[in-house]
Amino acid sequence: MKRIRTRYAPSPTGKLHIGGARTALFSYLYAKHNNGDFIVRIEDTDINRNFKGGEKSQINNLKWLGIIPDESPEKPNPKYGPYRQSEKLKRYNEIINFMIKKGFAYKAYDLPEELEKQKKEQQKKGIYSFRYNKKWLKISDKEKNKRKQNNQYSIRILLPKNKNYSWNDMIRGKITVNTNDIGDFVIKKQNGYPTYNFAVVVDDYDMQISHVIRGEEHITNTPKQLVLYDLLNWKTPKFGHTTIITNIEGKKLSKRDISLKQFIEDYKKEEYNPHAIFNFLTLLGWTHPKAKEIMSHKEIIESFCSDRLSKSTSKFDIKKMNWFSKEYIKNQNDKEIENKLDLKNKSNDWKKLFINTYKQNAITYKQIQEAFKIYNDLTIKKNKKNEVTKTFSKLINEKKFTLENIQNAINKTKEITGKSGKDLFMPIRMITTYQKHGPELAKAIYLFGEELILKRLK
Ligand code: GLU
Repeated sequence: MKRIRTRYAPSPTGKLHIGGARTALFSYLYAKHNNGDFIVRIEDTDINRNFKGGEKSQINNLKWLGIIPDESPEKPNPKYGPYRQSEKLKRYNEIINFMIKKGFAYKAYDLPEELEKQKKEQQKKGIYSFRYNKKWLKISDKEKNKRKQNNQYSIRILLPKNKNYSWNDMIRGKITVNTNDIGDFVIKKQNGYPTYNFAVVVDDYDMQISHVIRGEEHITNTPKQLVLYDLLNWKTPKFGHTTIITNIEGKKLSKRDISLKQFIEDYKKEEYNPHAIFNFLTLLGWTHPKAKEIMSHKEIIESFCSDRLSKSTSKFDIKKMNWFSKEYIKNQNDKEIENKLDLKNKSNDWKKLFINTYKQNAITYKQIQEAFKIYNDLTIKKNKKNEVTKTFSKLINEKKFTLENIQNAINKTKEITGKSGKDLFMPIRMITTYQKHGPELAKAIYLFGEELILKRLK
């Protein structure tokens, strides 16, 4: 059987988005499940839209998530490279010239305003997906020569007439499109760069990609790409188009919606657990056969079969994402967490208890680091006393300052005052830790040490 090779092919027009990360992840998982290769290549031919740092953000954030490519611009395999389209112009031109020679493609000298006019006329007739009127296929040589002087042309594919192109989509089943519903599309732009639909075919062919998994916005591109495979007599890869990700209200995610953190970089900055995000993204459009939620990378790879890719849209629920990160941090070993933090001037026992206490409820490592700050605050403030705090103070002073005795003092305060829940914990927490919220109270108090706590209570 042919080796499974998948790819993620971002245009470096922005930072890595959760949608892109999910596409990359599904491609990665499909390859790894089948002992294949996962490739990252950069589709940077839309030069006006390239964003400085876009490529770096894509690749570095994938790595942070644990989606490690076997081949990429940083790790090229000379057999398949280059891995940036801008470095392959010679190769594209060779094929384009071949296609012109064969009569598969032709030069079109339309001016932008002429194309705009055509588009408008079609829209008046209710045709919204533009179909080029093949004007320059029929034009006289004299007219051609006139226009040729400014050498402004693009190259369009000459579509076979009334021909059906079908593929068996890995997610959606069979899809068929007739060429009469597409126009002769551009394969080389006036600026000399190939278009996405052309370059993607050459690259997928050159890199021997076996499966193309990408977002549903590319469904309308696939028939165009199939035409090219057909004309060039190249074997087509298999295609799978994932469904969209929506926000919690079911609306398609918009990158402009700043109320949602949509870029992987945001999560990296907040110091989420990257494995948790990997796990969460896996379940954004895929389900485990036994509906398992928390899974190791190995487990995910082993069970990732493409027939469990969802046919309906997936909701991006930040609460669920937070839950995943919390679960991962809670179950992570203390030493690993310690390595992510900066806990100065504390004993090993102290650090152990601190991490163990705070990892129970943290969504991010940053939250744990933030919590550390309160233990460096040695201030003593005046506090209003009440029955609860007075009782607690007295009990604390009676016994040795141990975790167990602090817990006992809290319990006894409850018995004596008859207060419970918030009425019991809040005043004690406030007067000892100066915080409204926190982890298990006795531990939070103990971590401050006897000296400071007694001073604060006094
Ligand atoms: N560069 C395209 C994009 O970013 C890739 C599409 C594809 O995977 O074919 O959407």
